[in-house]
Amino acid sequence: MSRRPGIGPITPAQPSTTEDGTPYSDTFEDVYHSTGGALGQARYVFLGGNGLPERWRGRGQFVIVETGFGLGLNFLATWAAWRDDPQRPARLHFVSVEKHPFRALDLRRMLEPMLVQPGMTELAPLVQRLCDMWPSPVAGWHRLELAPGVVLSVGFGDASELLPSLRVGADAFYLDGFSPSKNPDIWTPDIFKTLGRLARDGATLATYTAVGQVRRDLIAAGFQVARQHGYGPKRSMLAGPYAPPYRMRRYDPPAAPTPRASHPREAIVVGAGMAGAAMARRLVARGWRVRLFERAQAPGTAASGNPAGVFHPQLSADDNVLSRLTRAGFLYALSQWRTLPGGLPGRADGLLQVAATEAEAHALQQLMAAHAYPEAYAKWVDASQASALAGETLTHGGVWYPEGGWLAPAMLCRAELVAAGPSLDARYGVSVAQLVRRDDGRWAALDETGRELAVADAVVVTAADVSQKLLAPYLDPAFVPVRRVRGQLTFLPPDALPSLRVPVCGDGYVAPSPLAGAGPVTGATYGFDDPAETVRLADHQANLRRLAALLPAHAEAFGDAGLASERAAAELGGRTAFRALAPDRLPMAGQLPDMRAIEPQRRRLSGGHLRDLPRLDGLYASFAFGSRGLVFASLCAELVASQLEGEPWPIGSDLADAIDPARYLMQALRKV
Ligand SMILES: Cc1cc2nc3c(=O)[nH]c(=O)nc-3n(C[C@H](O)[C@H](O)[C@H](O)COP(=O)(O)OP(=O)(O)OC[C@H]3O[C@@H](n4cnc5c(N)ncnc54)[C@H](O)[C@@H]3O)c2cc1C
Repeated sequence: MSRRPGIGPITPAQPSTTEDGTPYSDTFEDVYHSTGGALGQARYVFLGGNGLPERWRGRGQFVIVETGFGLGLNFLATWAAWRDDPQRPARLHFVSVEKHPFRALDLRRMLEPMLVQPGMTELAPLVQRLCDMWPSPVAGWHRLELAPGVVLSVGFGDASELLPSLRVGADAFYLDGFSPSKNPDIWTPDIFKTLGRLARDGATLATYTAVGQVRRDLIAAGFQVARQHGYGPKRSMLAGPYAPPYRMRRYDPPAAPTPRASHPREAIVVGAGMAGAAMARRLVARGWRVRLFERAQAPGTAASGNPAGVFHPQLSADDNVLSRLTRAGFLYALSQWRTLPGGLPGRADGLLQVAATEAEAHALQQLMAAHAYPEAYAKWVDASQASALAGETLTHGGVWYPEGGWLAPAMLCRAELVAAGPSLDARYGVSVAQLVRRDDGRWAALDETGRELAVADAVVVTAADVSQKLLAPYLDPAFVPVRRVRGQLTFLPPDALPSLRVPVCGDGYVAPSPLAGAGPVTGATYGFDDPAETVRLADHQANLRRLAALLPAHAEAFGDAGLASERAAAELGGRTAFRALAPDRLPMAGQLPDMRAIEPQRRRLSGGHLRDLPRLDGLYASFAFGSRGLVFASLCAELVASQLEGEPWPIGSDLADAIDPARYLMQALRKV
C-alpha cells in the first residue's frame, strides 16, 4: 500500500440526481444518502448512533472521523447540533476523507436546492459558509476553520492512503460513503484497523449499513458494534464502542493525540517574525495566554522585514514532500490571511512562474498535464498568455498560479498580531537568552543577566537561526544543522517596469511595487556563511543580471550597459537579511525530543520511528523556513498549536515527519 498520501490527480464528482431529485453518483451508481431524508439519517444514524450530542458535553474538544464526505450532510448536521447545544465542547473537529470531492460550484448547486426540504432551512448559513470555504479539488488534507471552534479537516484522495497518515485522536467515527457493494475499498479490514488505531478511550462508531461482513470485520478490528434499528425504511444499522479485547499492535493506538488540560494555559513565544506572529495568533485563538518576546523594537524587522515577498506552491513531477507541503502551506496561509482584519497586506491575484528554456517549458507543460490541477490552483500558459498576464513580453510559457502573489511581510506580522487580539502580551526590545525547565515542569525565559522574564506551561521558539542556540541545552546543535544564508534584495527605480502586473518568478523573482511611489522589488542573492549586513553593489548587479534573463525584453535596460552598470547600480536601494536554512530546505516545526529519556533507550530507538521518540513536555519550535516563510509560517504554527492542544494535526505524518525538529536526531539514532 502506498504511504504517500495526497498524490493526485483528483477526479471531482459530477453533479447528478435521480428522477426524484436525490443526489446520485454516476461513478458509484449509488445515491449519496437515503431517499428518506439526508438530515434525518445523519441525526439518527451518525449522531444518535454515537450518543451525540450527550457524549460531547463537558468536553474541551471532540473529534469525529468520517469516511466519505460526499455532500457534507453529516458534517452539516453535526455542526448544527453543536451550534444549538449550550453544553457543546469549545472545539469540534470533524475529519473526513473524500476520493471524489465536488467542485465548490457543484457542491453549492447540489446543496442549495435541498435547503427547501423540511428541517434544512436552518442549515442555510452553514451551507453558505461551507461552500464559500470549500477548497479546489487538489490532493491532500485541507483545514477549514468554518466558525470559531468548528474545524473541518478534509482529505482529498484515497482513504487507504490518507487515513494511515492521520495524527488524530478520535472520539467518534462515522462510516458513510457508498454502500459496501458499490464502493468496497472504503469498507476493508485494513481501513477498520487504521480507524481503531486512531480511537481514543471511549470512542464509538456508527454506520448506516448492517452488512454481515462489515459487522464481522469491524468486530475483528476492535469495534464492538451491534445491529440496531435502522433509519427510515432501513431495517438495521450498526453502532458500538471501540473496545478491543486485547492490544492488537505495538502502535495501538499509535499516536492518537490526547486532549490537554483545560484553559487558560500560558505560552512563551520567542521571536516576532512571521513564524512567531502566526504562532501567537494560532495559540490565542485557542484560548492561550501568550507572552511574545522580540529582541528588536518592533515585529517583522529581520528576514520578515522585507518590503515584499512572493508566494506560490512548488510543483514536481512526483509530487514530492516539498510540493505537498507547500501546497498545504499555501492553501492554509491564504485562508488565514483572508481573515486578517485589514485584509491581505499584499495581493493574491496571480503569480507567474516562467520557464528559462524551451526544454524546461516542455517539461513543465508535461508535468502540468500529468497532474491535471484545477485551473484555480495552477494552470499551464504559453508564452503569449504568460506575457498578457504579466504585462511584460516573455519568451517562454510557464505556470500561472491564480491565487499566488506577493505580501509585505512586516505588515503581515503586524496584522497577525492585531488579529490575535488584545490578550496577546507582546514585549519588544527584550532578548531571551536562555530557556529553563523548572522543577515544577513549567518553562522560564531568562534574559542575559539571568533575570526571569516569564514563566509558562510551554515555550515555542520562533527565532529563526537563533533558535539553534536557544534549543542547545535540550538538543545538540549537531541535530539542528541550520545555516544562516544572506540574501540581498534590489529596489528598482519607481519608473521601472510600469506595466508589470504580477510577480514573475524563475531564477529569482520580481514583484510589482509594494508601496505607492516605490519601484518593483527583485532578488534575491544566496550567500552561505556571509555575515555582511551592508548592501553590496556586486549583489545588485547579480540581481539585475538575473532579472534581465527573466524579462528578456528588458535585457538591455537591466544589463551591464544599463542599470547593472557600476554607476547606475550604485544608486539603487536594497536590503539584506538572513534566512535560516536546514540542509533539506524544510522547516523545523513541532515538539522537541526528550534527550534524557532517549539516551537509555538509544539502541531500541535506532529501529524506531519519529513517533516513538519521547518528547520534552512543553518545548516546541517553528523555524528554518529558508526562502519560503510565507507558505510555511501559518501551517507550521497550526501544526504546533494542534500538537500543544492534542488536536488533529493539519497535515499527515508523511509531512509532519519531514519537518519534525527531531528528524536529524532520528537519522543519527538509526546509525547506532
Ligand atoms: C532576501 C530575502 C528574500 C526573501 N524572499 C522571500 C519571498 O519572496 N517569499 C518568502 O516566502 N520568503 C522569502 N524569504 C524568506 C522569509 O523572509 C523567511 O523565511 C521568513 O521571514 C522567516 O521568518 P521567521 O519568523 O522564521 O524569521 P525572522 O523574520 O528572522 O524572525 C525571527 C525573529 O526572532 C527574533 N529573535 C531572534 N532571537 C531572539 C531572542 N533571543 N529573543 C527575542 N527575539 C529573538 C529576531 O529579532 C526576529 O525578529 C526571503 C528571505 C530573504 C533573506
